[in-house]
Amino acid sequence: MKKHNFSAGPSILPQEVLKQASEAVIDFNGLGLSLVEISHRSKDFIAVMDNAQALVKELLEVPEGYSVLFLQGGASTEFLMAPYNLLTEGGKAAYVDTGAWSSKAIKEAKNFGETIVVASSKDKGYSYIPKGYDIPNDVDYIHFTSNNTIFGTQLKEFPGGNALKVVDMSSDIFSRKIDVSQFDVIYAGAQKNMGPSGTTLVIVKDAIFGTSGRTIPSMLDYAVHAKAGSMFNTPPVFPVYVSMLTLEWLKEKGGIDAIEKINNEKAALLYNEIDSNPSFVGFAAKEDRSNMNVTFTLADESKKEKFDALAAEAGISGINGHRSVGGYRASIYNAMPIESIQVLVNAMQEVNK
Ligand SMILES: *Cc1c(COP(=O)(O)O)cnc(C)c1O
Repeated sequence: MKKHNFSAGPSILPQEVLKQASEAVIDFNGLGLSLVEISHRSKDFIAVMDNAQALVKELLEVPEGYSVLFLQGGASTEFLMAPYNLLTEGGKAAYVDTGAWSSKAIKEAKNFGETIVVASSKDKGYSYIPKGYDIPNDVDYIHFTSNNTIFGTQLKEFPGGNALKVVDMSSDIFSRKIDVSQFDVIYAGAQKNMGPSGTTLVIVKDAIFGTSGRTIPSMLDYAVHAKAGSMFNTPPVFPVYVSMLTLEWLKEKGGIDAIEKINNEKAALLYNEIDSNPSFVGFAAKEDRSNMNVTFTLADESKKEKFDALAAEAGISGINGHRSVGGYRASIYNAMPIESIQVLVNAMQEVNK
């Protein structure tokens, strides 16, 4: 039986994308060769890279003056690439600490220079998004995590100000409309909402190249990758190809506006159940709830065995909360159909019977 996949990452991809991808692994474009055994400099693969980059630009309405890169090393490598490229010697970086991923980003920035935390929600177990803080004028950049995959909170708006802005959008990129021009670096590991693990999407404003004044190793230098059209070395061909297919799927669905509307409906269905069902309690502050990762716990732990059995029986997979939070987390990324959420809601209702 096909499961209802609520995994936080790597996570659900559209069925039709998986089918096309598996076919390309055997025979790509009727070449009689696999996608993964041809040169990345072949015209067939160059077309994949060009198309993937063009789809990112089209779907997110990326303005002129930005480069779209498909890098390796995961979002975790961006934790250090951002300061390497932006934090000047003797300069200062600002971070908003909204969870485990922000904390890891902060740890890496500290290797490069003074790193200040301008706001944190650690005091309440990262269950909310801090607001109304000041961003000092003298920082080289400020870093946000737009969606906190583990805790289920999401920044609904980003503060203004003159500082360069870096954002980790790993778990909500392509899920809602964003204004790319607000940001200088956007990065996202593919495996939450775009493709398989193995590539990281980076959208970088070309004007920031050279900002840190440091000598940066080539592989960690945004400018080097941008100049080479994201082909400085062998790109992760399979993850880029599958990301391209997912973005084509998204475009066919009507793009960001259409998916955002569906995502709002999906999240509302699940949060309404959490709020109306006496057996469950939501984890995140209501106004900061994520539309991608829905975190909740049982009001009465003695019902755990019953609920887990009901969920398993319904074919629900991947809803255990992160080990640091406990309870449950339902990740409802773009490819998750509303029908699967209804199956989860039904199981939640069964607990009371
Ligand atoms: C998963 C995740 C990461 C880590 O991504 P890797 O690709 O495993 O390095 C970073 N930030 C956020 C918000 C995530 O959800």
